[in-house]
Amino acid sequence: MSTQPLVIGKFSLGMGDRFAHEAEAQLAACLAARKFGVEIVPVWNKSNREHNIIGSEPTSTRAAADAAVKALGWTAPYFLDADHIGLKTVDRFVGVSDFFTIDVADFIAQPADSAAVQTFVDRHPELVGTLTLAGIDRPFTITRADVERTAAKFLLAVQEAGKVYRHIVSVKGVGRFVPEISMDETDSPQTPPELLVILAAIADEGVPIQTIAPKFTGRFNKGVDYVGDLAQFEREFNDDLCVIAHAVKQYGLPANLKLSVHSGSDKFSIYPAIRRALAKHGAGVHVKTAGTTWLEEVIGLAEAGGAGLALAKEIYAEALAHMDELCQPYATVIDIDRSKLPAAAVVNGWTSEQFVGALRHDQKNPLYNANIRQLIHVGFKVAAKMGPRYLEQLKACRESCARNVTGNLLERHIRPLFL
Ligand SMILES: [Zn+2]
Repeated sequence: MSTQPLVIGKFSLGMGDRFAHEAEAQLAACLAARKFGVEIVPVWNKSNREHNIIGSEPTSTRAAADAAVKALGWTAPYFLDADHIGLKTVDRFVGVSDFFTIDVADFIAQPADSAAVQTFVDRHPELVGTLTLAGIDRPFTITRADVERTAAKFLLAVQEAGKVYRHIVSVKGVGRFVPEISMDETDSPQTPPELLVILAAIADEGVPIQTIAPKFTGRFNKGVDYVGDLAQFEREFNDDLCVIAHAVKQYGLPANLKLSVHSGSDKFSIYPAIRRALAKHGAGVHVKTAGTTWLEEVIGLAEAGGAGLALAKEIYAEALAHMDELCQPYATVIDIDRSKLPAAAVVNGWTSEQFVGALRHDQKNPLYNANIRQLIHVGFKVAAKMGPRYLEQLKACRESCARNVTGNLLERHIRPLFL
């Protein structure tokens, strides 16, 4: 076994393959990027929540990824992300994953031990005062009280991340996986000065994170575009990159540490800002997508017509009938206007073109309906319940499903971000 520590490259794309049928089509998008001269590291991610809803095991994600890599002759690195795990859920992933998104959002704002907060603040006088960071025009002014408040809010979460990290190390060994810490599934975004305090705490805790997923300003709803203040997003994203570069030097965090953008699919309006920022700072990024691929499967079925279209309509009807149950786990990351969801009987009369037009993320198409898109996004449980009936159609409509999966990742994601 190689003794080289696992290090993730500059640009990486998280991809979700809920039913383990699209790994090849997804990898084809990375292969195409490679032909254009840009290395995109594929990372297959599937959360514990997704595995539970579908009734699958992480070994199936590993098998699908390995098979795709073999089939397409992919020789560059690739990873399997145990997405949003904690101490209670990590064990199921620990054998097959080599990337761990340690989710500590639930521990944010649970107050840390006040002695630990004081120790932290005393150890970090450099955080207090007027900080001029390379690349940021306006210096940060951070008071001792600010550091105390931020430490009180995040220290317990960072300590928890340390526990999870050390648990994974005890099984896999140091350097045998890429650690990420995620704080995105919480109420309020973390500001760049807060990120700096958090990174200092992570370094103290001894977690060599290679990616960090803060919560950014604005709405990152599932499968649809960004909603928020574009100028503020761009300013904070740039500031975050400078904070990371500073923290790498100041606290000895891994040199390849980069931002991880969760719910990163379909955020078309911020991709130009991300692209500009990466170029300006020479920074890398991990963009995590997941359900956008499942949506392309449904689009592929609908585009194929016949039994595929019929099944896509059935998925819509069932999702509509069970909307409350399906939306509940995703309540904070979807905004569905129920009055804009057509009745199942209406959709049943649609052509392929109408169904595809409503679902495909083409904001210029007058048929596009972001409410239908979000409902289907959370509706994968319906397909999981269909079991073999769904999987048979995925095979029968392979060409159109694969074409849409690859085209979506390459043309709507990789191209505007990286090519
Ligand atoms: Zn996340």
